[in-house]
Amino acid sequence: MAGATVVELKFKFHTVCPICQSNRIKNLGLRYNASQGLFPCGKGQMAVNTHRCVQCDSVYSNPMPININQFYESENPDEYFDVILTKDDILKRWESIQQFMQNDIKGLARVLDVGAGIGIWTRFLAKRFNEVIAIEPSGTFFKVLKKNTSDASNIQALQCTLEEFASEHSEARFDLVFIHEVLEHVPNPVEILSIARNMLKNSGIIYICVPNNRWLTYELVKLVYGLTGRCFTPHLAPLHPPFHLYEFSKNTIRYMASMLNLDIVAIQTRTDRTYVPGLLHPIVKFFSRLLDKGYEVEVLLKKST
Ligand SMILES: [Zn+2]
Repeated sequence: MAGATVVELKFKFHTVCPICQSNRIKNLGLRYNASQGLFPCGKGQMAVNTHRCVQCDSVYSNPMPININQFYESENPDEYFDVILTKDDILKRWESIQQFMQNDIKGLARVLDVGAGIGIWTRFLAKRFNEVIAIEPSGTFFKVLKKNTSDASNIQALQCTLEEFASEHSEARFDLVFIHEVLEHVPNPVEILSIARNMLKNSGIIYICVPNNRWLTYELVKLVYGLTGRCFTPHLAPLHPPFHLYEFSKNTIRYMASMLNLDIVAIQTRTDRTYVPGLLHPIVKFFSRLLDKGYEVEVLLKKST
């Protein structure tokens, strides 16, 4: 049928929070399958509800699409990663990631880069550390990852999920498990973090970076939605790029860490981007910093002793 797009989606309805199993849930509103802007009504063709767990403070799509891998296969890798990060941001961000980790990463090490995408961070990690294993399940992204990392002899790129890697390499242990902007894409973030914990050396560190559901910009957009699109929410993007099924807060991270017997070594929100128009940016950035309500939460974790 010309002009028609067929998408076959499977949804999972959660009766309790998928992170902590609490039944204390708030409905935040609907999320369309397209960018909603400030005036969401009529911007998409389908929508799912967005829920916040009162106990662990996670935000998640409900129902949750659980076979979204097909979307990554049809994305243009360069365009997909440009949506998230412009090329100018990359170097600055790597410098800030290094600064965040520097006190806790001693010497040279063995790194597992989980959900490596097209290898943006893999290449930086390989310059800093002895050996990097980069795993990426999407075939489309993996092809580019392989090409982007072929000139580095200390990078091994594998096309697999973390679950598959862990079952095939159950003895593998790492000094650093690097999980940058991954947990929001998977239906089971607690399981991913649990596997990552099992793959740590005793002195090892997990780095994670996830979207912050307490981001100041969300609160500003919600003020406008209160006037114009009351039943909608700016949280998540479960049905369109970048396909976020979850958002976390510092409290969600603390909750998951205690569930998994992990200690938080360092935690902060990233405030460099606000996604508000130019004139408002410095003001919103200032208050994001002041209130610690940046757009992402960045965390270092280690095994509890
Ligand atoms: Zn919860």
